[in-house]
Amino acid sequence: MKGFTTPGKPVDVAKVFPELAGLERTTVRLHPWQDAVTVRDSSLGGPLLWPADEAWPVCSVDHPDSRPLTSAEGKRLQQRLAEIGEEMRNCRGSRALGVEFTELETAVRELRRVEFADDPAASLPMVPIAQFYARDVPELPFPDGTDVCQVLWCPTDHEPHYGPRPLVRWRDSASVAEVRAATEPDRDLSDEESLPSPCRIWPERVTEFPHWDDLPSAGLRARIEEWEKGKDWTYDQHLSVAPGSKVGGWINWVQSPDWPDCERGHRMDHLLTVASSEGGGWESWMPLEEQARTTFVKKVEFALVNGVTTSREIGLDEEFDPAGSHYSYYDQAMLAVAPQTVKERVIPGDRRGSGRLDVMLGDVGDVYLFVCAVCPDRPIGVEFQCC
Ligand SMILES: [Zn+2]
Ligand SMILES: [Zn+2]
Repeated sequence: MKGFTTPGKPVDVAKVFPELAGLERTTVRLHPWQDAVTVRDSSLGGPLLWPADEAWPVCSVDHPDSRPLTSAEGKRLQQRLAEIGEEMRNCRGSRALGVEFTELETAVRELRRVEFADDPAASLPMVPIAQFYARDVPELPFPDGTDVCQVLWCPTDHEPHYGPRPLVRWRDSASVAEVRAATEPDRDLSDEESLPSPCRIWPERVTEFPHWDDLPSAGLRARIEEWEKGKDWTYDQHLSVAPGSKVGGWINWVQSPDWPDCERGHRMDHLLTVASSEGGGWESWMPLEEQARTTFVKKVEFALVNGVTTSREIGLDEEFDPAGSHYSYYDQAMLAVAPQTVKERVIPGDRRGSGRLDVMLGDVGDVYLFVCAVCPDRPIGVEFQCC
């Protein structure tokens, strides 16, 4: 393999909508592919150049924990949490109560850290997620004197978002003489689907435009929607943000945009997306090399005469037969296919082949890491979103 090539776009969207000029960003698509990797390679899920004299990181923070607090303050907070929970269950909740509930949950979590400092609910070895050498991904904001960026996460749910909890280290590779092997993950307590398979990365730079919900105005969205009518592609799926694991650029939010600020108030940059899927808008994002080895199918969408819409996937050589026996167990007369609604399009078959990272975060979720490139200690933000 010699790398991956994102196909060209069907149209230069910045020419059609001049407001988009200046909003383009370059992302580094990582194109993870399972392969043998060493501590001297950039990788996703591969071994890290971790110094032998530095302990392997473990996490015991924010794991879902229902042990009761025993301090007077802890008891008071728990009592109030229970009262609000009761109000909410009786449908007497309000926005103010919801805010108070979230604040109390945070306070209880903080107190649990103090009260159970010597007895964490569980202590898990963190697992390697990414390692980037500056020679491969020079776009990262390496602090002075460092040339490798390492990302690990604790492979289980964490409050309040129920996703993995990451850790980022920046190092000078020349300072690491003897290397410590990773502590094996705790397979009983880890979420199996948060444990990645080692992948080599194949960095590729592509230009992106803002996610649909990051566009600067509703007026622009309305004009784009009007322009898309009758076309085979959409801004959202094909022309804006690359799907999959990547460094920098715009974010392919699974839900809505949620850009964090650092504690000093700087808007953070997108550092890394670790994605459950490389899919989405395959015509313009699926690498040509992957298209060449993928089996495509025809997805036939249609409506039944009772108004229900549904779809079938059939082989590329097959003909869709509306009179077929798909619904033989229903009343054929009621559920016949309304012929004018039949739409066919070609899509890739199964895309979860052996080439990928093998993580499934919640329901096809993504973990987004952010970094403040202004603060010298490079504070990190994290967001987890899933369907
Ligand atoms: Zn943890
Ligand atoms: Zn900052």
